[in-house]
Amino acid sequence: MKEVKIGIVLPEDGREEISFTTPYKPLYHWESQGILYPLQKATSYTIRKGSAQSLLLFSGLNCLCKGQEKARIFSLEPFSIAAESCLEVKNILAGRNFHWRKEIHQKLPVHLSVSLDQGNMVLLNLLPLEAYIACVAVSEMSPECPEALLQAQMIVARSWFLAHAENKHPGWDACNDDCCQRYQGVENLHESLIPIALSTEGEVLVYENKICDTRYSKCCGGIAEDASHVWQGTSYPYLPALWDSKTLGGISSPPDMSSEEKAIHWIQSSPPCFCSPDVLDPKSLSQYLGKVDITQNYYRWEKQYSQQEILDLLQKKGKIQNIKEVLSLQPLERGQSARIKRLGIHYLNELNQKQTVEISGEYNIRHLLHPSFLYSSAFFLIEERDSQNHILSLTLKGAGWGHGSGLCQMGALGMALQGYSYQDILSHYFPFTQRIKI
Ligand SMILES: [Zn+2]
Ligand SMILES: [Zn+2]
Repeated sequence: MKEVKIGIVLPEDGREEISFTTPYKPLYHWESQGILYPLQKATSYTIRKGSAQSLLLFSGLNCLCKGQEKARIFSLEPFSIAAESCLEVKNILAGRNFHWRKEIHQKLPVHLSVSLDQGNMVLLNLLPLEAYIACVAVSEMSPECPEALLQAQMIVARSWFLAHAENKHPGWDACNDDCCQRYQGVENLHESLIPIALSTEGEVLVYENKICDTRYSKCCGGIAEDASHVWQGTSYPYLPALWDSKTLGGISSPPDMSSEEKAIHWIQSSPPCFCSPDVLDPKSLSQYLGKVDITQNYYRWEKQYSQQEILDLLQKKGKIQNIKEVLSLQPLERGQSARIKRLGIHYLNELNQKQTVEISGEYNIRHLLHPSFLYSSAFFLIEERDSQNHILSLTLKGAGWGHGSGLCQMGALGMALQGYSYQDILSHYFPFTQRIKI
C-alpha cells in the first residue's frame, strides 16, 4: 500500500524542541546512523537542536543520544491506528496563520522521521495512504458527522491528494494543516468509523480519465465560486460557480454576483441553501465541526474596524509604511460568488498626497484585512464618516468561510443531514465527474 509523508513540524514553525510520549506498548525505537536505541514505555522524551546540524534526544535532563543529523522513531510491530499504541507528539501547530491557530497534542501512528532543514527542525509522519485519508476526514470535520458527509470528505481528500496539482511541499506529500488538508492523527478515528472508511476505500473522482483536483472549503456562503476566480490558471469544468441549493438551480443556471449591486444584494440576503442556518441549526453545529474550529455563523458575518485598526493592518500586514489616513477601500473585481478578486486601497501618505495600492487575489485580501485571516473575500463595506468626510469606521458584511470553490463542507453536511447520499453530494459539487475505484 502506498505510504505517504506528511509534514507535522515544518521548518517555518521555528521549533527548538519537539516532545513526545511513548505508549505502554508496542515498544518504540529511536534509530539514527544505523544505531538502534530502545525507548522506555509510557515515557516522555524531548528532541532538541544541538550545535551544527545535530539532534539530541533527552529524557528529562539526561541526554541519551547526541550528534545525529537525522533520526526516525518507529516500532517493529505491525501498523496500527489504535490510539493507545501511537506516539503522542506535543504542541503541534494547527491553523497556522488562520484565525483558529492553536497548539494541540496529536497521536500519530508509526513512523516519524526528524531532521534539520537549514537549521530548522522538521518532523514527518509516514503512514499508509488509506489511514491518512480516514484521519483527514475526521480532522476536517467531527467524527459525529453523518456517514454520507464523511464518505464524501474521504473521496474528496483522496482525489485532491492523488491529483497532487498544488504540490506545495517539494520533498514530502503534504503538510498537516489547512494549507494542504487537516491531518491531526488518529485520535478521532473511532473503531465505529472503520467500516465507513472501508466503504469508500480507493474511490476517487475523475474527469476525462484524470483524477480531479477536488478543492473544498468550509462554507461557500450559498454560491460555490468558479476555481478560475480563486486561483489564476486553475480552470476545470468540474469546479464551476454553482448555487449551493437544488431549489435555486445548482449548476443549471450559473449564478453571477460579480457586479457591485448584485454582490451587495446577495450578501444582504440570506436565502435557504445547504450551508445556511435554516438547514444547519447553529445550536447543533459545534458537534459536527473539527475540534480546532470556532463555532459561528459563517454563512453571513460582520466585522468592524476603526480608522486606526485599518491603518494598523495596512501598515503591519500590507507593509504600506507611509500611510497616514485611509480614504476608502474599493472592490475592483469580483468572482461569481461575490468574492473580491481585486481591491483598491485609497489613502493619504505622510506628505498628504493621495495614493492607491491594489491587492490582487482573494487569499491576499483575506490575509490583509484581519489580524489573522478574514473569513472570506465575499464582503461589501459600510463606511461611517465624520463631518469632514474622514472615515471613522468600516464595517465589512460578508458571506462564507474560505475560498468557496468545490465542495462546501457545511453544505455537504446540510445535504447529508437531509438524507442525500455521498454520491448525490459529490455530483452536486463536482458536476461532470465520474467516481471510480483505483
Ligand atoms: Zn501544506
Ligand atoms: Zn455552501
